[in-house]
Amino acid sequence: MATPVRDCPCHSGLRYRDCCRPYHEGERPAPTPEALMRSRYAAFALGLDAYLDRTLVRDHPHRNTAPPPARFRYMGLRILHAEGNEVLFLARIFDKGSDRSFAELSQFVREPSDVPGEGLVWRYADGDLLEARLLPPSIESLTRDSFLALLQRHAMAN
Ligand SMILES: [Zn+2]
Repeated sequence: MATPVRDCPCHSGLRYRDCCRPYHEGERPAPTPEALMRSRYAAFALGLDAYLDRTLVRDHPHRNTAPPPARFRYMGLRILHAEGNEVLFLARIFDKGSDRSFAELSQFVREPSDVPGEGLVWRYADGDLLEARLLPPSIESLTRDSFLALLQRHAMAN
């Protein structure tokens, strides 16, 4: 990286070195699905292809073949719900002038790490997403159930 990153790109408000950097640098695995999700968002923002790749489930179709992350602007991240192996989040992403923001309900699984002695680690499996324009104006009110209802309504309209 050309310039050292000070504030964590996952928008936690923490310093990068106290937030996602230890996961990116392989010092330790992200301990929860939420931490992994945040660190993947930050990895997209920083263009850390290898980290994005190794945090996918082993049988993920994009494992080892994922294209490098697009050079979008990663403007914000809000975790709306995190429980069990699921995380619902809102990602604020812009591509030049256009808003590419979306909400996603992500699924994570525990798998044996490739690092000897590390045991089981969380990995990203899959997610359902909706573009921001399909979400209610009051994002704060979005719950897992209302997100799934919206997802279903949208799928039926297609
Ligand atoms: Zn972070």
